[in-house]
Amino acid sequence: MLYRPLGRSGLQVSALSFGAWVTFGKQIGDPVAKKLLHTAYDAGVNFFDNAEAYADGQAEIVMGAILKKSGWRRSSFIVSSKVFFGCEDDKPNQTGLSRKHVVEACHAAIARLQVDYLDLYYCHRPDPATPILETVRAMNDLITQGKVLYWGTSEWSAAQLTEAYRLCVQHNLYAPTTEQPQYNLFHRTRVEKEYAPLYRDYGLGTTIWSPLASGLLTGKYNTGVPKNSRLDAPGMEWLREMILKQPGIEKKLTAVPKLAALADELGTTLPRLALAWCLKNPHVSTVILGASRPEQLTENFGALDLIEKLTPAVIKRIEAISKPVAD
Ligand code: NDP
Repeated sequence: MLYRPLGRSGLQVSALSFGAWVTFGKQIGDPVAKKLLHTAYDAGVNFFDNAEAYADGQAEIVMGAILKKSGWRRSSFIVSSKVFFGCEDDKPNQTGLSRKHVVEACHAAIARLQVDYLDLYYCHRPDPATPILETVRAMNDLITQGKVLYWGTSEWSAAQLTEAYRLCVQHNLYAPTTEQPQYNLFHRTRVEKEYAPLYRDYGLGTTIWSPLASGLLTGKYNTGVPKNSRLDAPGMEWLREMILKQPGIEKKLTAVPKLAALADELGTTLPRLALAWCLKNPHVSTVILGASRPEQLTENFGALDLIEKLTPAVIKRIEAISKPVAD
């Protein structure tokens, strides 16, 4: 495993990490979740990503029970939660980034995950209804209370992040360490262009999500929706719609076999190629893997050996296929 600093912080995060999004407490059973977490940890993965909203809190309950029984030293792993979407109910104050919800959601996540503190705590989306200073102060206070070690954002605009940094400097508060944006061969503008000044000026780290575009970049959706895949799972109609009806999907699907052929020529697989391409970006602190089977994780760890083989000439060929169809 490779380890990278999370932005300009001293926290070392495995270059490949593992998340629970639509799998834990939902698409997969608890024994599979356990196998996945152990497979990841045994391979050197030290960051496990979660959120209050994943399976309405159930993903954190499942992960917490596994962590508790694992016997792993608390210092050997990093676990996150995210606040914004709420879980169970969505009454006023049970969602969003108000001081009340940020603090209460943190306490609830700590209880579900059965830990004493969260290593990383994210604002899952921006909240236009709450002043940024209120949220930043709440995060700062959780850090000074020892309930959170580092905080970050997910899918905030560069302008919103810049405002957060400005307020932190002005009021001497703990600043965000990381963003959690979507980044893959088909979705790249924000990470590559919009955030560029933030890496330079504030040392922003990134923990990137959907590196395989929810499975598009495995080739499995090129001939329909296979049985037992994520987009086939019950309750996942909204995601099927979002992924398979997104703008430019036909062009993206046309690029997939070309990328697969290039991977084949390099003696590797498409998922590995797509993941190694993400890892090539020095502003990517960690690539969060989503997997519903241990074999997928094992396969995906092979991306680490591919990084060196993605020479400028190979990258140029990947770009020629993917860049014209990417957003
Ligand atoms: P991916 O884009 O990597 O998609 C994962 C899915 O791709 C798997 O569930 C699996 O689908 C398929 N897959 C993975 N590896 C392989 C393989 N080798 N061969 C075939 N199929 C494969 O990541 P996610 O979209 O799951 O995102 C990763 C993590 O990022 C999440 O768990 C979550 O922690 C985080 N995230 C954060 C968001 C945010 O807003 N901050 C939003 C979304 C995710 P299948 O089940 O069909 O086999």
